[in-house]
Amino acid sequence: MSLDLDRFPRLALVPHPTPIQPLNGLSSALGAALNGVRLFMKRDDIAYVGGGGNKLRKLEFLLGAARSDGADTVITVGALQSNHARLTAAAAARENFACELFLTRTVPRTDPDYTGNGNRFLDDLFGASVHELAGDADSLAAAEARAAALRAEGRRVQVFPSGGSSAVGSLGYAACAEEIVAQSEAMGVTFAHIITANGSAGTHAGLAAGLFAMGRDPKLAKSYAVLATQGQAEAETLAKANATLALLKPGATLDPSDVVVDGSHRGPGYGIPTDAMREAVRLIARTEGVLLDPVYSGKAFAGLLHDIRAGHYRPGDAVLFLMTGGVPGLFASPSAFAEG
Ligand SMILES: *Cc1c(COP(=O)(O)O)cnc(C)c1O
Repeated sequence: MSLDLDRFPRLALVPHPTPIQPLNGLSSALGAALNGVRLFMKRDDIAYVGGGGNKLRKLEFLLGAARSDGADTVITVGALQSNHARLTAAAAARENFACELFLTRTVPRTDPDYTGNGNRFLDDLFGASVHELAGDADSLAAAEARAAALRAEGRRVQVFPSGGSSAVGSLGYAACAEEIVAQSEAMGVTFAHIITANGSAGTHAGLAAGLFAMGRDPKLAKSYAVLATQGQAEAETLAKANATLALLKPGATLDPSDVVVDGSHRGPGYGIPTDAMREAVRLIARTEGVLLDPVYSGKAFAGLLHDIRAGHYRPGDAVLFLMTGGVPGLFASPSAFAEG
């Protein structure tokens, strides 16, 4: 069943469909520990702009709506090393919107790699106006206040929430779910699970909403929380999935049991490295030549590896990991990978 996404204004920021590849090198390295699971990766780090990452699918719809509403300026919020902020800056540059970013010092670090390299370096390169705030500041309130001031000068401004995870932004991952269903049919592979990291929850929410609106099981999507606790992430994912469903299929709603989130691989907190994350990033780099990121996909892949080794997936299960990008985060944290 088609989601009829052409109803919504949209720009093209990633090639559609992004490729799905088998993880053969990793699979042979895991050997018996793989327990007969068939591992695949969907390359949502491949893109037309900005170095790539999952925020671009959301920005296709967010900037599409901004363009059709006549906006000339977009403002968004995030942590100092936000991938979403960097990709908003890049896409705004290409699509000719002015861009302002309100970034909070959420992670307790003051070293120059964190404060000036990685995404933060690229924000400047893409020409965004950056406002840095304390870790506990209300960045969305600051962004709204700035938007009001700019509107008073006659500018037409749209503000995107953290991670671009509004209902409109999450449509990007409903579109991804539609792509996965079509690719799965073309490949003759039925995915038992679609795995992603969960930060601002829009990726999981969009996948679950899209699957459900197509008449598929929303529980195919499973996420590992890296920002909120499991309970908070479940509640946020459910609320966002239902807000997205209200756009796709008014009247349809998901239940709490439709949202599968695992909160046990976040470690001490958002952006704080864990040994399992380091192992996952190194293993994929050295067996596949592919880069996970330290904040999101590294922890999610660590969770997937843990669960495969613990026998939580059945022999023969095809498991699709969503590669969500975030490579600049590695350059904000080289010390986390210093060989001991
Ligand atoms: C933002 C992000 C995620 C999580 O996506 P949400 O929609 O915020 O849950 C995963 N991976 C990377 C690299 C990200 O930047």
